[in-house]
Amino acid sequence: MYYVPDGTTKCGYYECKECGARFLSLQLSEVIPCPYCEKDFDPEIGPDEEMTALDAEATLQKVLEGEEVEMWDKLLSLAITGGDEEWL
Ligand SMILES: [Zn+2]
Repeated sequence: MYYVPDGTTKCGYYECKECGARFLSLQLSEVIPCPYCEKDFDPEIGPDEEMTALDAEATLQKVLEGEEVEMWDKLLSLAITGGDEEWL
């Protein structure tokens, strides 16, 4: 498992509108902060912080249960590692 721990039976499939990242998370909120956009946050920026945070939201696309969790985890991690191996 790449995104969630082995044995996970329920998780959320999220997509970030800002950076296009697709990932699984154990969180099941409608909207969560995008972990990929968060890396780009500049701590020096004060006044714009709120706006930036709003842009970096990933929305819940689908709740995955049972075998779906492992299937999607595999699909998404292959999509990432398959096309971008050079940095590894
Ligand atoms: Zn993002």
